[in-house]
Amino acid sequence: MPLILLAEDETAIAQSVLFALRAEGWQAEHLLLGGQVLPRLRQGGVDVLILDVGLPDISGFEVCRALRAESDVPVIFLTARDGELDRVLGLELGGDDYVAKPFSPRELVARVRARLRRSAPFRTEGWRVYGRFAIDEAGHRIRFDERLLELTRYEYGLLAALLARPGAVLSRAQLMDRVWENAPDSSDRTVDTHVKTLRAKLRDAGADFEAIKTHRGLGYALETGERG
Ligand code: CA
Repeated sequence: MPLILLAEDETAIAQSVLFALRAEGWQAEHLLLGGQVLPRLRQGGVDVLILDVGLPDISGFEVCRALRAESDVPVIFLTARDGELDRVLGLELGGDDYVAKPFSPRELVARVRARLRRSAPFRTEGWRVYGRFAIDEAGHRIRFDERLLELTRYEYGLLAALLARPGAVLSRAQLMDRVWENAPDSSDRTVDTHVKTLRAKLRDAGADFEAIKTHRGLGYALETGERG
């Protein structure tokens, strides 16, 4: 489970960000001061750092400059100022992305997800097995019963999103967010259509049970099936 570290001194903002991160099934930790960031990073396990620029003790820019000497953790800056200068400065100091306040937690979550995806090949090399499924995230491949599924980009994304949390019910909106974030002309029906084609492909691959379960009014969940 990815761990996101948030350094933010405004508690109202921090609470809504932490809530949004945890709703994704991620772990989220919160620090109030810039001086706490490096000691925490040294303990390890942090996948993405969300760093407020306007921290009370040390600015987020200074924190980033200091941590880049020893860490390549992805850094997303939060700032109250929507200045081009800040954006450029933040990226020059080793930041990876930048979100200006006020922002929607949903937008921030999408940025975090993009960072996680970018670093995913280093963490998930090779196949991971879930019941009768196996996924190779770096290679964008999914197998069912050792059989490689021939999937379109969106079918792969949809099945990968469901496989990330087997059994968990994901709403159409959550699936849209994850899989179709850069496709503005898609609708809720898009998810249903792709579920249909995925089910057909799974049946062709020999699935003798309904792996993708419909939960009426809620969304979809994946049953991975028993091995053997
Ligand atoms: Ca602040």
